[in-house]
Amino acid sequence: MLNEKILNGDKITVKVGKLNIGESNKPVIMAGPCSIESRNQIIETALELKEIGVDVLRGGAFKPRTSPYAFQGLGFKGLEYLKEAGEKAGIPVVTELMGESDINEFLNYTDIVQIGSRNMYNYSLLKVIGEIDKPILLKRGMSATLNEWIMAAEYIAAYGNKNIILCERGIRTFENITRNTLDLSAVPLIKEKTGLPVIVDPSHGTGIRRLIEPMSKAGIACGADGLMIEVHLNPEKALCDGKQSITIEQYKRIYDWCKKYVNVDNL
Ligand code: PEP
Ligand code: MN
Repeated sequence: MLNEKILNGDKITVKVGKLNIGESNKPVIMAGPCSIESRNQIIETALELKEIGVDVLRGGAFKPRTSPYAFQGLGFKGLEYLKEAGEKAGIPVVTELMGESDINEFLNYTDIVQIGSRNMYNYSLLKVIGEIDKPILLKRGMSATLNEWIMAAEYIAAYGNKNIILCERGIRTFENITRNTLDLSAVPLIKEKTGLPVIVDPSHGTGIRRLIEPMSKAGIACGADGLMIEVHLNPEKALCDGKQSITIEQYKRIYDWCKKYVNVDNL
């Protein structure tokens, strides 16, 4: 029998390079395209974001798409481009791991391992990533209760890895104008119950470009330790999730606001 309840509310901070996620008053900003589309695209995005300011570069290479006929990502070629882009800009990277096969090769390319919403219930995958020594970004399952989400994190911790960042990315409700319903009440609750850092993903949480700025601000105001935002050089041409992707200019407004934000409760 494994220990019960490792995540008991005692504060855990997650180190990624120079960042200590969950520790500081300043939100950590992860940004980049939904998918890595080409070497030029991800390098140019990384350099533009770096110039404005960004803490972690995101980009999917293995994409969990609803349709098997939709763009599936560039796979390992994409991971090579992502790593190169992160190195050129001098920032850590995060990308999604979809399955257990080739995990050792996958781990060469990323600083943070993202487990997507569709895999939050994949207990064999959770056990495997519990045994690695890289930070995990665990997204909330789209139909997961807080307790189920906590238990998914507990799987990872029980197998040895407590470097977990939780990501609220919206849940399915009866509402269908937004892509998902961003459940911000989950943020302070799950922080309190697990002690883990929590970030908010307003992109998948709303699916609507013009809602990214207000929901980013709302996420920070309710205590999130950071944000993960989809940004594209030309959202209209994006191969995946263009409708919810913001431009570099829109990103700059959000970034500048976040970095000026002071949580008076923590002063
Ligand atoms: C993503 O971050 O690109 C993604 C697929 O997100 P989710 O797993 O939350 O749908
Ligand atoms: Mn996406």
